[in-house]
Amino acid sequence: MLTEEYVKRVYAQVERRDGDQPEFLQAVREVFESLEPVVAKHPEYERNGVLERFVEPERVVKFRIAWTDDEGRVQVNRGYRVQFNSAIGPYKGGLRFHPTVNESVIKFLGFEQILKNSLTGLPMGGGKGGSDFDPKGRSDGEVMRFCQAFMTELQRHIGQFTDVPAGDINVGAREIGYLFGQYKRIRDEYSGVLTGKGLEFGGSLARTEATGYGLCYYTQEALRVLRNDSFQGKTVVVSGSGNVAIFAIEKAQRLGAKVVTCSDSNGYVYDPKGIDLDVVKDIKLGHRGRIKEYAERVPGSEYHEGCRDVWTVPCDIALPCATQNEIDGESARTLVDNGCTVVCEGANMPSTPEAIAVYQGAKLLYGPAKAANAGGVAVSGLEMSQNSYRLSWTFDEVDAKLKQIMEDIVANSLDAAKEYGREGDLMLGANAAGFVKVANAMVAQGIF
Ligand code: GLU
Repeated sequence: MLTEEYVKRVYAQVERRDGDQPEFLQAVREVFESLEPVVAKHPEYERNGVLERFVEPERVVKFRIAWTDDEGRVQVNRGYRVQFNSAIGPYKGGLRFHPTVNESVIKFLGFEQILKNSLTGLPMGGGKGGSDFDPKGRSDGEVMRFCQAFMTELQRHIGQFTDVPAGDINVGAREIGYLFGQYKRIRDEYSGVLTGKGLEFGGSLARTEATGYGLCYYTQEALRVLRNDSFQGKTVVVSGSGNVAIFAIEKAQRLGAKVVTCSDSNGYVYDPKGIDLDVVKDIKLGHRGRIKEYAERVPGSEYHEGCRDVWTVPCDIALPCATQNEIDGESARTLVDNGCTVVCEGANMPSTPEAIAVYQGAKLLYGPAKAANAGGVAVSGLEMSQNSYRLSWTFDEVDAKLKQIMEDIVANSLDAAKEYGREGDLMLGANAAGFVKVANAMVAQGIF
């Protein structure tokens, strides 16, 4: 329930204008519920129209991508770049290639990115982009030609000082390489215009691991501060088997947990002995296979069709690392009934509003995505710093900075939660702490 008059009025305006964008509305509503005590304490935000400006992207670019497939047929996809907010730095955020990509999805991701980037403490604004291109079943040559066509248009909208894209779902090292090559050829400029680059051409050590490792550092710190507890001896359920999931599993295992699941869009595997990560890496990073193969290779493990059923596996800690709205109210209830007491989000907005209500009712330790998965973009920010310096830090240097950033996010979120009257609430704390910095910068820079 939105009660604060100003918040209610702006939300009604978003509903009128973007009523056909369900994911975007969902993200805005969740944040606005946390912002009521914040705007009540800061009357200058209303005077400066901060909320009205905050929900309207500075710019939305939508474009055609035409490319030729291996049969010589012309294919046309739609591309997006949402440059949402540049109050505290150049637009920053990933590119997602997935058939579900549309304006609503890119706007929700861009909106979340503003607050996430602010929480890292690094100077990055919020943006996001992508395409409805489906790389599944496409050859390497097709992916390359698509990336080149995508960048042929995108390049005119980005730059190291204006907008710095990176990867997201289905955009990893291979795609960033093709995108970077095309930018360089067209612009004749060797700069840190993209992050997540290969190590040979300006990438940062620990960027690949950053989101998953960061998720575990965040969870570990929240457990320590709020529960005087740790990963040691805990049973963990992870969804997904991409970059985020793989390195979340690796770090959770190193911190003493037993991770018993991972999944892809077809189904999940359950391994009561604990997931053998070498096998997952071989399937997913080695030959881009399906997770079903795991059960064929590891005796004693089981494969189940239907990825959503992964939440029926009993656990102490759940780390959703697949995609938006992967945990609905019913799955959340099942998790709680089976004894889960911690949910920290590696994917962006993986919990529906109904699921979040269940977590709150059951007093779970709930680490929201924009805080818990900020490690990826944090190390992107460190990659930008290294590119500007023209040097590279060691793995341990970057990893130590990442850990510190994640611990600071927990501390800053808890401080903000206390300041706005909801002690211990990591969700309100993340929304408030992320927002206040951006809002103050918007007020300071005048109305535009
Ligand atoms: N796509 C990632 C995210 O959701 C990383 C973005 C980046 O590194 O710019 O935060």
